[in-house]
Amino acid sequence: MLIILVLSTNVQFNFFVKAFNKNPDYPDKAVALSFDDGPVESTLEILDILDRYNAKAAFFCIGKNIKKHPEVFKEIIKRGHIVGNHTFSHTRKIGFLPSRIIIDEIENCNQIAEEIGGVRMNLFRPPFGIINPKTKRALNKTGHQVIGWNIRPYDAITKSPEKIIHRITKDLNKGDLILLHDNMPNTAPILEQLLVILQQRKFSTVRPDKLFNIHAYN
Ligand SMILES: [Zn+2]
Repeated sequence: MLIILVLSTNVQFNFFVKAFNKNPDYPDKAVALSFDDGPVESTLEILDILDRYNAKAAFFCIGKNIKKHPEVFKEIIKRGHIVGNHTFSHTRKIGFLPSRIIIDEIENCNQIAEEIGGVRMNLFRPPFGIINPKTKRALNKTGHQVIGWNIRPYDAITKSPEKIIHRITKDLNKGDLILLHDNMPNTAPILEQLLVILQQRKFSTVRPDKLFNIHAYN
């Protein structure tokens, strides 16, 4: 039982839902970047850095933040990145919600994204990586595909940029998918340093939907 519990709370294990976490078979020496929990004002700085390095990423957005920062949300799409669903409220209680409420959380996020950005998001990243049978039931209903990650530097809870960069780069392989948060104050300098290291190591970047050959929108 304990094992089931541990497995079910981590999206990487593909236990209840097939999630796309990495693709080592991708033909190019490339890694993918993803940013959770925006859009916020500081997302714009991230977008400028990505532009300078000609990198395209995925942004898993919280519905209430899309509502708060509609212009930032539109800008993400305009600059050629993809957006995905990260629920409407990003509640910590997500693991305890009935599937009916999880469906509302996902559909409300999609609805605001469509109203503001004109996109019908097909990709979902669960808040806190929590996938359980109720989430699975909800996803069967909404039809979203789950995108996980395989490199998680804990940038939302670690203060030291050096530590975060080390966690990302110490064992980086082609086809890896990196999780960062665009609402953290250090993300911009971390991203800039990371992109320099990727260039030095001759890694390119690939947008996550292209890494897995899947569709970001319906
Ligand atoms: Zn999140």
